[in-house]
Amino acid sequence: MTSLVIQTAFLGDVVLTTPLLEALALRHGRVDVVTTPAAAPLVETHPAVRHVIPYDKKGRDRGLGGLVRFARTLRAERYDWAYLPHRSLRTALLAWLAGIPRRVGFEDGWPRFYTDVRPRPKTGHEVNRLLALVHPALTGGAMVPAMPGLATTAEDRAAAEGFLREHGIGAEFIALAPGSIWGSKCWPYYGELAQRLAARVGIVVVGGPEDTGLAEEVVKAVEGGGGRWRAVNACGRLTLRQSAEVIGRAAVLVTNDSAPLHFAQAVGTPTVAIFGSTVPSFGFGPRGPRDQVVELDGLPCRPCSAHGPPRCPLGHHRCMRSLTVETVLHAIEETGALRRRD
Ligand code: SF4
Repeated sequence: MTSLVIQTAFLGDVVLTTPLLEALALRHGRVDVVTTPAAAPLVETHPAVRHVIPYDKKGRDRGLGGLVRFARTLRAERYDWAYLPHRSLRTALLAWLAGIPRRVGFEDGWPRFYTDVRPRPKTGHEVNRLLALVHPALTGGAMVPAMPGLATTAEDRAAAEGFLREHGIGAEFIALAPGSIWGSKCWPYYGELAQRLAARVGIVVVGGPEDTGLAEEVVKAVEGGGGRWRAVNACGRLTLRQSAEVIGRAAVLVTNDSAPLHFAQAVGTPTVAIFGSTVPSFGFGPRGPRDQVVELDGLPCRPCSAHGPPRCPLGHHRCMRSLTVETVLHAIEETGALRRRD
């Protein structure tokens, strides 16, 4: 029995799908995964995964012609089952065109292309909602919480260690992830936070190449602040798994509601998650025992969209601007991660 999971959404969504991969591997044996070329390294080392097939939906495989060609290559593998956590039409068509006899998807996706339609829990964490594809009898809060997982290699560990050593970051540091592709989800005071923290601990700024500008501002703030410790920009200088390895070594990660939050959950690092235009009840909040959420309660415009708009539609961005550095420092203390280091 061979099964395929098609998950071509954002990096964070791919990380949140890993408990589903584990559940399916228990049922069918190791699974194959179709995902984006960017996300492929996140799952290719996962023990539940047999083979990763990159689907370049915005490049080589774009358009209807690319979809049909890609489906033909999947057809040759003669999968028995397709599981479709991503509710897009493209995903549904891909499994259907590949002729996979059992196609399991959510009722609020494209059920006419599925053979097995599952209700998608309206509440609960996204990890549990995705698990409903394989455990349809369980819904929302009734599910056993499962944490996502990322497997790094010895090479990833060596590269992360070398990067930290090369930049003078010792065993004690805090990771900051100031970026998000949705601007309204970005907290604006990471520089000031880093400046304050640098009196006590080293700082590593993590993120993708697109976050380099933000990261440089944070590093400059620390350099100008005369703190005792250093800050280094790791954005775009490490692979995804190396970044996960760095986050895994951090005492705590401070992040917006974005992919690094899910990386930290996967590697077990205490997290301070700052929410602005979105809210944790959307199903993407942190769930570790020491994790903290920083958000502004009682703001009538909050939340203002499912993903968070590119910029505040009201112009004031009060959901984030009202969250002070002091509040975030307090949340870091609440994780207990720094207390042990004083
Ligand atoms: S409308 Fe409200 S919740 Fe949305 S970005 Fe602006 S301040 Fe934040």
